[in-house]
Amino acid sequence: MKIFDIAILGAGASGLFSADLLGKAQKIIIESGVKPARKLLASGGGLCNFSNQNMGSEYYFSQNPHFVKSALAAFKTQDFLDILDKNNISYTMRPSGQYFAKSSKDILNLLLSQIDKKSTTFAFENKIISLAKTADIFEIKTDKNIFYAKKVICALGAPTYKKLGGTNTAFKLAKNLGHNIVSPYPALCGILWDKTQKEFFKDLAGLTIKAKLTCQNKTFTEDILFTHEGISGPAVFQLSLYGLQNKEILINFLPSVDFKDFLLKNKNNIKLPANIFAEIMPKHLAQTLLKDFNKTLPDASKQDLKYLEERFCALKIQVQNTYDYDKSEVCAGGIDTKEISSKTFESLKCKDLYFIGECLDITGQLGGYNLHFAWASAKACINAILKDL
Ligand SMILES: Cc1cc2nc3c(=O)[nH]c(=O)nc-3n(C[C@H](O)[C@H](O)[C@H](O)COP(=O)(O)OP(=O)(O)OC[C@H]3O[C@@H](n4cnc5c(N)ncnc54)[C@H](O)[C@@H]3O)c2cc1C
Repeated sequence: MKIFDIAILGAGASGLFSADLLGKAQKIIIESGVKPARKLLASGGGLCNFSNQNMGSEYYFSQNPHFVKSALAAFKTQDFLDILDKNNISYTMRPSGQYFAKSSKDILNLLLSQIDKKSTTFAFENKIISLAKTADIFEIKTDKNIFYAKKVICALGAPTYKKLGGTNTAFKLAKNLGHNIVSPYPALCGILWDKTQKEFFKDLAGLTIKAKLTCQNKTFTEDILFTHEGISGPAVFQLSLYGLQNKEILINFLPSVDFKDFLLKNKNNIKLPANIFAEIMPKHLAQTLLKDFNKTLPDASKQDLKYLEERFCALKIQVQNTYDYDKSEVCAGGIDTKEISSKTFESLKCKDLYFIGECLDITGQLGGYNLHFAWASAKACINAILKDL
């Protein structure tokens, strides 16, 4: 029976980076796919938004918000840029601070090229089914083999995008070993209309507009995109991180307009209101929002004006559902970080078992934060393992 020093479960972003950092340490990487890192390849629309200039715990959501601090402090945006520079991989920074590669393939090829092949065994097309520990040895069962290792790094990601390798295996393995799972839900995703909303907004499919979205105490002012099924776009994605199901959101379609002032200027304007509002927004949006308003502005009462302000600047949307896991970039929730060391990412329930990347209850905003956490958590974990070997 061969016992590996380290088994890395999952050849995604965090698993491959761990393998790089482990250098010549003896290890096996176990992966269900024929090829590694399918999500990484699809990331950033094929350009891999791998990190962000603006980095900090405030860009992450978790039941345990301080958890990320230590890993982010030990692995900064510049640390990843240094690796790219050293290997002549080009990248660009957008005005928002997001870093993109020229192609996701460049990042994947770099990760693969940095793995020390002599000390590494690859086990592709091995779907992990269970993980158990007897005495000091882990037994990893797949649909084809049983592997043994002294240390295990679980880098199995989360259940989004099944076709790119998304599973809930990490949650199952962790639960079996006594870990709590913070209820997972799809995040960085759009909102689905209910029947009435679908009818109300049907003429807007395809429209993109900058809007201010608010849900409870969270606000984002970015683009929203109307689709046939609901609304999507960066502002909706960001808000979805905090869980939108059965919550009310407010949409301000005119975040940079002084609405009261605009009404005052037009109080004697006898044109159709939709034509007046068409000066400051797309006409079909104004027409949709004014569907059940048949007065001119000079005829409008105080109450009517208040109604208009609510329609344009604080439209209430009751969210029934968001998109499901197969159309969501990430999964919020996951393995409870209260049972994980924030310095080493070792389980506090099971010695020599480490959890890194998206399987943990740490979810970044849109903008390269999830991949950065994959790198930073791998770095913290491997630093600890190398000290221990
Ligand atoms: C379409 C899309 C675009 C995205 N774009 C970005 C972006 O631009 N920037 C950003 O920061 N984030 C982005 N993300 C999120 C980001 O890709 C993930 O957060 C990141 O890949 C997580 O890394 P990970 O190593 O934890 O998991 P993953 O990269 O998902 O790796 C997990 C690996 O485990 C394997 N696996 C799962 N279950 C099993 C099993 N039972 N047995 C064996 N192997 C298994 C999977 O096949 C996979 O290879 C995007 C996600 C999607 C879906």
